[in-house]
Amino acid sequence: MPLSPSRTVADLRELQELTGDENGAQRVAWTDMWERAREWLRGKLAGAGAEEKIDAAGNQWFTLSGGSDRALLLGGHIDSVPNGGWLDGCLNVMAGAEVLRRIAEDGAPPVTVRLVNWADEEGARFGRSLFGSSAAAGSMADQDELRTRRDADGISLPDALAEHGVELDRALDARPELENAAAYLELHIEQGPVLESMDLPLGVVLGTFGVERHLVTFRGQAAHAGSTPMDKRRDALAGAAKLELEIREIAKRTGGGAVCTIGGVVTKPGIVTSVVETAECLLDQRHLEAGTLAAMLGEAKRASEQIAHGENIDVEWERIWNIEPILFDDALIELADESIREVAGTSHRLPSGPLHDAAEVARAGIPTVMLFVQSLRGLSHTKLEDTREEHLELSVQALDRLAAKTIANLTE
Ligand SMILES: [Zn+2]
Repeated sequence: MPLSPSRTVADLRELQELTGDENGAQRVAWTDMWERAREWLRGKLAGAGAEEKIDAAGNQWFTLSGGSDRALLLGGHIDSVPNGGWLDGCLNVMAGAEVLRRIAEDGAPPVTVRLVNWADEEGARFGRSLFGSSAAAGSMADQDELRTRRDADGISLPDALAEHGVELDRALDARPELENAAAYLELHIEQGPVLESMDLPLGVVLGTFGVERHLVTFRGQAAHAGSTPMDKRRDALAGAAKLELEIREIAKRTGGGAVCTIGGVVTKPGIVTSVVETAECLLDQRHLEAGTLAAMLGEAKRASEQIAHGENIDVEWERIWNIEPILFDDALIELADESIREVAGTSHRLPSGPLHDAAEVARAGIPTVMLFVQSLRGLSHTKLEDTREEHLELSVQALDRLAAKTIANLTE
């Protein structure tokens, strides 16, 4: 049977039927429903001639041996957030399964082809994203901290993993899985509004944004709301409010997809009868270029100091987390562009705001690229997440073309 993109759509609907409910997808990693999804995938690929294996981090691999040990990897994640959408993650697992079946039908491939269903991309239960891919990439370094994590019911992460045959301390033993990897391809829904606004079905992802996350604390003086004249106040919330408006201008001036967000502000004492003494702001800044991201951070710091000076308050910065931008492989970006133009006429290059398993694989030094397919209304992590069926089918075709071109390149 040749490639059947409509089968991918039917598979995704079947998976949703099996593992979702009226509130959306319920395939949270390290749960029975997730296990059921993995079993279902196993059944879907039975007879394709691929050998299945679960590695030390719980990643599920299907390996189609070829003429060489060098491997083309196709990856996605079947786990979802609670009340998730029907496409996030599992689109590439099922599109990858379709491509794997097509390649198997054509006879033994010149290189080995492997489909990987990464374990716990979402981190929905324990707040740790990219679990399986970071273990395989060798970048997981937070085992001590992970050992203490508990879910909402008080179950510890190591106990939950053990129920699925994974020992936290041995997760890094998944590292050899990437040893022979020569290229990694991942298709994903965009989860944003860019492709839809351009009326394009597909785009090539240039890389994932670098992220700078800081706690910015403004400190003023608590004072009675009734007896303190307006010109005598040292109001920390004024600092937070001005910074929030300023970071929007910084992102606009920076351009190139720059985004800055203050996602939360906690004020103390936080009562209606007092001027705000401290305002703690959670700031998140993202850009695809490391230098630009650093400049954007510098601008925000300078702005906060000027604001603090003007309001007669103090400001302090504390880094919460950061990650460098991760750029995908130039040659694979070209092949992906070509593949999209062949199936859809027009392609578009765009960065990814969210992190993906592909970022971990790229960080491990493996040539990587992602394809995005249009998301309707830019919605994801909700049951309202959707993509037109004809676009889903085009995305399977584009992934198949890209896989074929990559294999040809690897065997040159
Ligand atoms: Zn995803």
